Amino acid sequence: MLFSAGVPPLTRLGAESEITLQFEDAGIPVRVHAYGRRDPVLIRGRGIVVKLRGSCRDDVGSDLARFRGPMGWTHMTDGEILPIVEIDCESIRLHTLMGMFARDRSLRGLLYARAVGRVIAHEIYHVLAATRIHSTTGLAMPRLSPEDLTDGRLRFDVEAAGRMRRNLRWFPGSGPCPAE
Ligand SMILES: [Zn+2]
Repeated sequence: MLFSAGVPPLTRLGAESEITLQFEDAGIPVRVHAYGRRDPVLIRGRGIVVKLRGSCRDDVGSDLARFRGPMGWTHMTDGEILPIVEIDCESIRLHTLMGMFARDRSLRGLLYARAVGRVIAHEIYHVLAATRIHSTTGLAMPRLSPEDLTDGRLRFDVEAAGRMRRNLRWFPGSGPCPAE
């Protein structure tokens, strides 16, 4: 699997494994495939395109004062969520790495990759569950702090996992869902 030519391997691999882990724990197997050299990630099976914007470097540069927009978003048309997720790598970096100046470089890289994977997983949740509803706990919460994105074992809560699995039963072309 390939995120894009410009994504450092550590970020790419870390985010990929985080995405896989999050959905496996929710009972939803996903496969991540290359989409293109510059327009990169595709979650196959449900055909979700994930586009990464901005630089996905894990270093903290002089851009910390930059305005920070949303970390990720989905697109809608006629009230339906389209299977297209966009991620702003720079917003994620600003949100998560602000307090990490003192951490060692390799740890920072691992945590950043996890954060990128979790933001992608959160947006994919909206697509798979076909809803803008959030959970009060877990990865489907409306606001995710830097700690939520990097620390511990944050996963989708039972409600969010249930919303995705229920909706996937009706997803055109989907295979059988895992037993609940
Ligand atoms: Zn959300």
